[in-house]
Amino acid sequence: MTEKKAVFFCSASSEIDPKYNQAAREVVRAACLAGYSIVSGGSFRGTMGVVCDTATQMGAKCYGVLPTFMKGMEYEGLTELTWTEDMAERKDKMREGASVAVALPGGIGTMDEFFETLVLAKLGKFDGRVAVLDYAGFFEPLRALLDHFVATGMLTPEDRARAEFASTPEELAKIF
Ligand code: AMP
Repeated sequence: MTEKKAVFFCSASSEIDPKYNQAAREVVRAACLAGYSIVSGGSFRGTMGVVCDTATQMGAKCYGVLPTFMKGMEYEGLTELTWTEDMAERKDKMREGASVAVALPGGIGTMDEFFETLVLAKLGKFDGRVAVLDYAGFFEPLRALLDHFVATGMLTPEDRARAEFASTPEELAKIF
């Protein structure tokens, strides 16, 4: 059987409200229970560390991908750690073999990973599903931005629909 992989884009910050990390934990748990291996940026920082902790505790395979200039930031205990030259290669490697990409609450790094993945999905270069955890309304402004793109003809409703928003971890977990 081929390995099922879910890639998580999420915050590297440790300054965020813990409720976002709790929600992240629930989503990763659900993915592990559904038999997915977990891929993330692979750092111990912020929500990424929470994603790795949860996957490891659940006994799932936990893959991390880091650019060499982040040496020292890697999560200890990854099933496999891949080093890349730069951030662009890192994003490609993170998506490799993933059938689901999930954006958890995060900042500009998360948005970079989310938008690139959505563009690739639109162009037929990423054939997985793209989910967004809009927990506690965190991604309301992102929904509004995408709606604005549709209203102004910048984005088709079909491509807008490629970003599958869920408001709770339970709702998002249906994707696994
Ligand atoms: P952000 O959402 O701005 O906190 O960025 C986090 C996302 O971008 C993660 O999914 C990482 O892949 C990547 N990233 C950005 N900054 C870092 C960092 N300091 N350490 C590890 N990964 C990072």
